[in-house]
Amino acid sequence: MKKLTIAIDGPVGSGKSTAAMRVAELLAYDYIETGAMYRAVGLAALEAGVRLDDAVAVARIAQTAKIDVRWEGRRTRVWLDGREMSEEIRRPEAAEAASRVSAIAGVRESLVRKQKELAAEGGVVMEGRDIGSVVLPHADLKLFLTASVERRARRRLDEMAERGELVAFDRMRMEVAERDRRDSQRAASPLVAAPDAIVVDSTAMEAEEVARVIVLLAQQR
Ligand code: C5P
Repeated sequence: MKKLTIAIDGPVGSGKSTAAMRVAELLAYDYIETGAMYRAVGLAALEAGVRLDDAVAVARIAQTAKIDVRWEGRRTRVWLDGREMSEEIRRPEAAEAASRVSAIAGVRESLVRKQKELAAEGGVVMEGRDIGSVVLPHADLKLFLTASVERRARRRLDEMAERGELVAFDRMRMEVAERDRRDSQRAASPLVAAPDAIVVDSTAMEAEEVARVIVLLAQQR
């Protein structure tokens, strides 16, 4: 079977990561989580002590930092200039910093270039916000996952609880809504479904079901 490129986009908590990882596993493809790269740039900016809205300084960091992401079958590992940051990028402050630096056009330019290279050979499931629309406009299969804000807040709470972090539901619902607002209103590559993406509403679906639908679609390509 031809090695496809599969693009999976969607807002926070849409279940795209779990589904994307499972699709990669079922098809024996590489999985590339682009959010981890934005998180790494966010952390690098925090470490360097630059303001997250200083577009020039943050774009320079994105351009010069050496960011390596590697999928190891169960989790994405990330190195920033040779230092492993796999744990650090999962912290809430890294998510917040990622959301802010990702609005900077120069940051997106550097990371998109890198992402295109990573997908060049095919046999990849790439997941993010702008994969079908900007990074891989010629992907063989594009999915856009959505779910209600409540369901997405619940998924995020469950993920965080697994790491021992407890957050109130109302607060999480507000945070999810705020990240949606920022991701969809930014001028540089806002979160939108590509016109040729298949939209899947996962509010009432388990990740396994979503993954199987995607694999069936891939087999038809
Ligand atoms: O996917 P994840 O929640 O880890 O991404 C962190 C942040 O990085 C998102 O809130 C979003 O602002 C940004 N991001 C992006 N484009 C991508 C992936 C992530 O703007 N392709």
